[in-house]
Amino acid sequence: MTNNKYKILLVEDEVNISNLVAAMLEATGYQVLLAESCSAAKLLFASHLPDLIILDLGLPDMDGMELLRFVRKDSLTPIIVLSARAEENDKVSALDSGANDYVTKPFGSAELLARVRTALRNNRFSSDEGRLPGGRFILRELELDYDARQVFIKGQEIRLTQTEYNIVAFLSENSGKMMTYSSIIKAVWGGSACEGSIKKLQVNMANIRRKFGAKPGENNYIINELGVGYRMNG
Ligand code: CA
Repeated sequence: MTNNKYKILLVEDEVNISNLVAAMLEATGYQVLLAESCSAAKLLFASHLPDLIILDLGLPDMDGMELLRFVRKDSLTPIIVLSARAEENDKVSALDSGANDYVTKPFGSAELLARVRTALRNNRFSSDEGRLPGGRFILRELELDYDARQVFIKGQEIRLTQTEYNIVAFLSENSGKMMTYSSIIKAVWGGSACEGSIKKLQVNMANIRRKFGAKPGENNYIINELGVGYRMNG
């Protein structure tokens, strides 16, 4: 079954981290390609076309953002960014440049594996989902009807305002992907993020979560990453 394994390109210059992550991914059944620099990663990406990239932003030859932009020029290969805790702004700009998700160092193996599964699954189905005519989006008991602009949970219609619907639809089209405040604001209102627009987004999101019956600590449909953005839990 070797040929059916997902190929993951791991770009990380810290050998102790890359050994650990590679061992964990291989034990889970993934094939791992290792690169310790941006230039090595570019070559491996072009020759092996991996299914997923795990990318450390701090690399010896170039910024990891360079590789992110290189890949995104003509590929939707999912990218999970590894970042240190202090690099909040880097996380946001990586997400806005097309990264699917991020994991903060130090991270647990369960957390990283969950993000890997979500990113791979999301990519596999992304061509069937999104705003298709007559298209529907289904996530557990949540259902969106894009044509009728209706949202249901357990078959019951959830009454949303136009703005609330637009936010939910945008998150569903990017299910599994962490969407930054500014990317949501741009999609829903067309402007750029400022204190006022972030506040407006947060108010709408609080209403959506209340209407969805979200409870703290439960497996809710929309996850909030404070200071970063929101993710529909794909
Ligand atoms: Ca590094």
